[in-house]
Amino acid sequence: MTDVVTVIGGGLAGTEASWVLAERGVKVILFEMRPFVKTPAHHTGYLGELVCSNSLRSLSLENAAGLLKEEMKLLGSLIMQCALENAVPAGGALGVDREAFAKCITAKIENHPNIEVVRKEVKSIPSGIVIIASGPLSSPALSDAIRELTGEEHLYFYDAASPIVIAESIDFSKTFKASRYGKGDPDYVNCPLTEEEYYDFYKSLIEAERHPLHDFEKEIFFEGCMPIEVLAQRGEKTLLFGPLKPVGIIDPRTGKQPFAVVQLRQENREATLYNLVGFQTNLKWPEQKRVFSKIPALKNAEFIRYGVMHRNTFINSPKLLKPTLQFKKDKRLFFAGQITGVEGYIESAATGIVAGINAERLFRNKKLLCFPKETAIGALCNYITSPKDNFQPMNINFGIIPPLEKRIKNKKKRNLALSKRALDAMKKFINENGL
Ligand SMILES: Cc1cc2nc3c(=O)[nH]c(=O)nc-3n(C[C@H](O)[C@H](O)[C@H](O)COP(=O)(O)OP(=O)(O)OC[C@H]3O[C@@H](n4cnc5c(N)ncnc54)[C@H](O)[C@@H]3O)c2cc1C
Repeated sequence: MTDVVTVIGGGLAGTEASWVLAERGVKVILFEMRPFVKTPAHHTGYLGELVCSNSLRSLSLENAAGLLKEEMKLLGSLIMQCALENAVPAGGALGVDREAFAKCITAKIENHPNIEVVRKEVKSIPSGIVIIASGPLSSPALSDAIRELTGEEHLYFYDAASPIVIAESIDFSKTFKASRYGKGDPDYVNCPLTEEEYYDFYKSLIEAERHPLHDFEKEIFFEGCMPIEVLAQRGEKTLLFGPLKPVGIIDPRTGKQPFAVVQLRQENREATLYNLVGFQTNLKWPEQKRVFSKIPALKNAEFIRYGVMHRNTFINSPKLLKPTLQFKKDKRLFFAGQITGVEGYIESAATGIVAGINAERLFRNKKLLCFPKETAIGALCNYITSPKDNFQPMNINFGIIPPLEKRIKNKKKRNLALSKRALDAMKKFINENGL
């Protein structure tokens, strides 16, 4: 082993990881290819640049994004420090002045005596302990190296995810379980629509507002992954031969085949989350809520992740990583950030903290740490590294945190209780492990 830890990528995860290591007395070499080699979405040479929105989401502990940020603060997060120092008014959310925020991160990292920033594209995996945090827009050469490391089928280059809803917000009285043609186990939750309901849904769908696509994202459509609204435009019945196909699905309550059926697939082992099968979409988020709530069983559905279609590089973490974010096949390697399959700025930064802490522990021959599952950070690491058939990136949300022992009906109170339990667990974990 060398006497430094190498971090690849000076984005949100890589800077957090470098900071954690440096603050604990470990020398870090941080490689960042910008400004010499650009990505399709970054515009500056600053470290920690936000590529899109300037919001780090809710500050409230009634919201899982608020909880995640609170935990990050307890762990001495650099991103949180710079965000709070450069906050702009944003209602209940943490909005930042993006340039001042990125400048703050850049200055703190570049001025840290234990960090050397090298502005160079990494094209192969370096020796020694390495944290790979090269993000959703990892350079092609490095992506090739990661593909070689992980195996072709374990690196995905785009994200075409369907929305996910919380189980308890689904009206199960308007659903039934059945498999198509009665084959296999009736694992899917079927949401029937009458002819009238279907055409109402269809009309809203084709009229709904979409996200504009970057040029580099247009290629996604050619990979056999059509957004539902584009499919719908081909004809008013097209969806009845695609994601809303009713054929072979009999509603046991009527003994008949409904006019149209939306299928929900269980998303996690605890069955607290379900995804809408075949609903990958590029609609704007409020539009997704408006249009998909027209499905009778989803009238009051709570969406914890909206459908997305964008360029994203992420590995098959459920197969490849331990909850410590260590790479199973080569223990000197860690992954952090969006490339692990978490989704979002703060989620990426949070995994940078976990990888940084565990890389430091490996460096000092200490036992690596799994964060408690009750915490937002632990739940995220647990989610991305638990077995899954169809792994898709995930934002933090209360649906992936284990439920309270005693159920609280009121959602606000329940979320606050989950946050309190998480913060207590995090404080205990920090004390016990001298973090
Ligand atoms: C177009 C787009 C829009 C997004 N919008 C949002 C949003 O609005 N809100 C949100 O919460 N999340 C958003 N995300 C998702 C995600 O949270 C961000 O991409 C986030 O920046 C990920 O953090 P990261 O540290 O993993 O990667 P990044 O912040 O992208 O950092 C990775 C760094 O690695 C560098 N790098 C790549 N390859 C190499 C190499 N070979 N050698 C050296 N350096 C390299 C890159 O230049 C970059 O600086 C968006 C993602 C994309 C692609």
